[in-house]
Amino acid sequence: MALRAIDCHVHPWDAVSVQHMGGGRLAAMAGYFGRELEPVSLDALADAYRARDMMAVLLATDDSTTSGLPPVPNEHVAAAVRKHPDVFMAFGGIDPWKGRLAIDEARRCREVLGCKGLKFNPGRQHFFPNDPRFGPLWQTAADLGLVCLFHTGLMGNGAGVRGGLGFKLKYTAPIPYLDDIAADFPDLTLISAHPGWPWQEEQLAMARHKGNVYIDLSGWAPKYFPPQLVQYARTILQDRVLFGSDWPVLTPERWIEEFDRLDFDPEVRQKILVDNARALLGLQAGEVSAG
Ligand SMILES: [Zn+2]
Repeated sequence: MALRAIDCHVHPWDAVSVQHMGGGRLAAMAGYFGRELEPVSLDALADAYRARDMMAVLLATDDSTTSGLPPVPNEHVAAAVRKHPDVFMAFGGIDPWKGRLAIDEARRCREVLGCKGLKFNPGRQHFFPNDPRFGPLWQTAADLGLVCLFHTGLMGNGAGVRGGLGFKLKYTAPIPYLDDIAADFPDLTLISAHPGWPWQEEQLAMARHKGNVYIDLSGWAPKYFPPQLVQYARTILQDRVLFGSDWPVLTPERWIEEFDRLDFDPEVRQKILVDNARALLGLQAGEVSAG
C-alpha cells in the first residue's frame, strides 16, 4: 500500500512520556485544549499510524537542566522504533546544557539508537542556539547527519497561564538564532518547527535564504495558516516544507482535511506530505511502510 504521509512532528503521550509534563505542564495543556488528554500507548499509536498508511517521527525531549523534570527518554522512543520500524522513526531529545554529555548523547542517538535527528525546544531549554558554547554540538550533529529540529515561535504549552510556565519566547525566534547556525554550519540540516508566529516572515526569509533549513507546518490548524506561508509553501519553498501534526495537539486527519481545502497542486501536496520528508530523512525503500 502506498505511503500516504510522513508526520514529521509527533509527541509520545504514553504513561512514561507524560512524566515529562510535571510542574503544571499537564494542567496547562488541559486548559489549552479544554480537556484532559489520556495517555496513549506507543503500541496503540503505532496501530493508529499503520491504519492511516502513515509514518510518524517520534520526538523525545530533555529539558531537565532547566526544569528538573524527567525527559522523554531517548531509549524509550528508540525501543518503539525497533518494535514498529514500519511506522516509526525517532528524533532524540538533547539537553544542550549538558555539555560534553550532550555531545556524547547525540552520538549515541545516531550510532546506538538509530535516531534520524535531534529535537530542541529553546523556549523551554532557555538557550540561544547561536551561543558559541553550543557550536560543538551542531558540528557533531552535522558530522553524524542528524537533522536538528527546533521549536519556533509561540508555545501552546503555558499559553494563557500566569508566567507562561516560565518559558521564554525570545529563545524561539528564527533570526538570528537559527539563521546564524544555518550559516555557520552549512552541513547541518535544521527544521524550524511550526509556522513561526510572531516571526512568520523571518522564518520564511531564513528558509528562502538558507538551503539547509526546512519548515514543518505542525501545531497550527491549516485554516489559520498566514497567506504568505501558504504562498511560499506552494511555490519557492515547496521542496522544504514538511507535514507535521504535532499530535496530540492536532490529529493528522484534521490537519490533512484542512490542508486539502487550501487546494495545493497534487505534485506539491505529495512533496509536502511524503517526498520532502522521505528525502530529508533518507528513507530507503525497505523502510517505507509496507502497509
Ligand atoms: Zn511539538
